[in-house]
Amino acid sequence: DKAEWAKLKSEPSVSKNGQHFEIAANIGTPDDVQGALDAGAEGIGLMRSEFLYMDTDKLPSEDDQFEAYKTVVEKMAGKPVTIRTMDIGGDKHLPYLTLPEEMNPFLGYRAIRISLDQETIFRPQVRALLRASHYGQLRIMFPMIATLNEFRRAKAIVQDEMTNLKQEGIPFDEEIKMGIMVEIPASAVLADQFAKEVDFFSIGTNDLIQYTFAADRGNEQVSYLYQPYNPALLRLIKHTIDASHKEGKFTAMCGEMAGDQTAVPLLMGMGLDEFSMSSSSILKTRSLMKKLDTTQLQPLVDQALNDCDTCEEVEALVKKTVKVD
Ligand code: PEP
Ligand code: MG
Repeated sequence: DKAEWAKLKSEPSVSKNGQHFEIAANIGTPDDVQGALDAGAEGIGLMRSEFLYMDTDKLPSEDDQFEAYKTVVEKMAGKPVTIRTMDIGGDKHLPYLTLPEEMNPFLGYRAIRISLDQETIFRPQVRALLRASHYGQLRIMFPMIATLNEFRRAKAIVQDEMTNLKQEGIPFDEEIKMGIMVEIPASAVLADQFAKEVDFFSIGTNDLIQYTFAADRGNEQVSYLYQPYNPALLRLIKHTIDASHKEGKFTAMCGEMAGDQTAVPLLMGMGLDEFSMSSSSILKTRSLMKKLDTTQLQPLVDQALNDCDTCEEVEALVKKTVKVD
């Protein structure tokens, strides 16, 4: 209820047995930060940087980007802020950037693929992020990483710009964390290898589901294949979380699934570290977490992953075991 939720705003997110899970917000622009704080966000788990590129008729300058990122980290006052580098392409186009006509845009030239190909776009963004990192706790996240070499190349460019900023005497966080979105099955399957090199994972279930079931996330005719509780997807998620923990790293989730009340008990049972969602879902999720005991959720996960064979079966199992309203 409302009174309980108001109290929860300033409380950390803990399970009934005292395990802490971070609940963060997904935001699109610096204007969304206040709403996230008002909703009790413990951090920003995903800032989509696309708005900077979409709302103008030319490429945003390094300084414009710096100001936007700095505003966000300053408003968050030391709380972690994960900013994702440009995720243009797919269905998002820019008037000033001619992208090729593609048969399969979601399998084509987008996100990190563009950034690595067009460094004149990527480097100013990297510099803006590094400069803003001096003003709070900023983490850099790369979207649509399919291979380790893509991550290595992106990281090398960040390190190269670190060297440049140092020479220019411009301050930045030298310990800045760099992570990847896990939204392509290849990176989930290879999570144990990735975990040795990245600082963190953030599972992007919107795309991970689309690519795992080979079903366009915007196509109504195949929407029955949007199956967040299918054991195939749950195993990819569990594998990713386990792999990160083995290397002492953390895993977040910033797809819609992180705020899905049926998925939350499963994700808690798997030990997901951070749940990032739209601000409007934060308090109801924190309230749910408080009612759940993780020692009872681990057997639930085992059953869902090993005994269930359909999305529907898992959903029924969770609803039977956990009182979710
Ligand atoms: C995702 O794919 O789950 C995600 C968070 O990224 P976007 O929705 O921006 O593609
Ligand atoms: Mg995505």
